[in-house]
Amino acid sequence: MFVSDCLNINEQGHLTIGGRDTVELAQTFGTPLYVMDEQQIRSNCARYKKSIDAFYGGNGLACYASKACCTRAICQIVKEEGLGLDVVSGGELYTALSVDFPMEKVYFHGNNKTVEELLLALEHHVGRIVVDNITELELLNSLAKAQNCQAEILFRIKPGVEAHTHQFIRTGQIDSKFGFALETGEAMEAVKKAIALPNITLVGLHCHIGSQIFDIDPFEHAAQIMLDFIRQIKEQHGYEITELNLGGGFGVKYVPEDKPVEYERYMEKVSQVVHNICQKSGLKLPFIVIEPGRSIVGTAGVTLYQVGGVKEIPGIRTYVSVDGGMGDNPRYALYQSEYEAVIANKAAQPKVRTVTIAGKCCESGDLLGENMPIQEVAPGDTLAVFSTGAYNYSMSSNYNRIPKPAMVLVNGTEARVVVKRETFEDIIRNDLL
Ligand SMILES: *Cc1c(COP(=O)(O)O)cnc(C)c1O
Repeated sequence: MFVSDCLNINEQGHLTIGGRDTVELAQTFGTPLYVMDEQQIRSNCARYKKSIDAFYGGNGLACYASKACCTRAICQIVKEEGLGLDVVSGGELYTALSVDFPMEKVYFHGNNKTVEELLLALEHHVGRIVVDNITELELLNSLAKAQNCQAEILFRIKPGVEAHTHQFIRTGQIDSKFGFALETGEAMEAVKKAIALPNITLVGLHCHIGSQIFDIDPFEHAAQIMLDFIRQIKEQHGYEITELNLGGGFGVKYVPEDKPVEYERYMEKVSQVVHNICQKSGLKLPFIVIEPGRSIVGTAGVTLYQVGGVKEIPGIRTYVSVDGGMGDNPRYALYQSEYEAVIANKAAQPKVRTVTIAGKCCESGDLLGENMPIQEVAPGDTLAVFSTGAYNYSMSSNYNRIPKPAMVLVNGTEARVVVKRETFEDIIRNDLL
């Protein structure tokens, strides 16, 4: 009925998440409130893991792209589910370290890792560092040399496949700040260099072709291009790449019209492509890594707000103001991302209004959505916005010095705070006079 399996309506006509009454959650923990359903996160993790077992003989690893939502509790769940973790900063790595995440299953990405970040990664024996450019390659080699260790790396490659939500394009030369280009020879030069560097071990290649992708074809194309490059490396340098990381980007349902592919289908199709190509070209089957972020946590989350003023501008639109906004969810302001919302305390009632939901920041663009169908709405109602588990908390800010919301994790009858609500003291904590 809703965009996510973990959402439902109870006898009181209230919205529930993971069986818990959202109106009660809002009363107990205050608003705005991020609520995440633990079982949904776990089942998403398990689906990816099982799909690698089922379609690729377990010869791979699903890594959760932690930038989607990186908290200690989420990292702990991902660890328990046996997935790897993809981090893109010292802060994300530090979060993983704080829950004793197995470091051999951590992939460190980023187009401009600092010396401090690389040292942190080497010191803690992070499994793979995904090298973005030559400057970083040389820097990493010298840092590894000084530490007397080997850095096991992947190269980030621009495969020339760029996927958008409903279509994808293959271009000769993609304009991206990430990675090495294939068609200019830049990537092959880097490979040659890496093979020769004493403290670098080149184990694999990585690509990430976009986000919120609903098709499988772009992933198949990317796999083909990457395997072709692996073949060329073998031919030209007699060097066999053993690991292929195809990134993330699997789409999720935000609004009823969204039709994401079943997660299992990606590994099923990609495995076929990889098996076929490897057989034809005599390559060993590579270890395959995928990096779902949004699709692990996105639909597991809702954000609860309290409705304040309702401002009707006759013939124009109705603004429904809530006690959060772009600070806790900047996605509409950034990309006009669509969301579905309901009045949680009237969830069983028909949606009879079409409104604009406005946040409380001093910014006209501070909206959570426009033309949103919603139930009859009044001040004091609880508004629930769906599918906010990914790229909400992780992209939140303190704009206007608004404290960040708490995050509650529900699991059956249990509901526990996993991120405390910020206080005004937190807001001034680092200020000096
Ligand atoms: C963002 C990102 C992901 C995850 O993308 P989703 O769309 O959240 O699945 C995976 N890998 C890399 C390198 C990324 O930058």
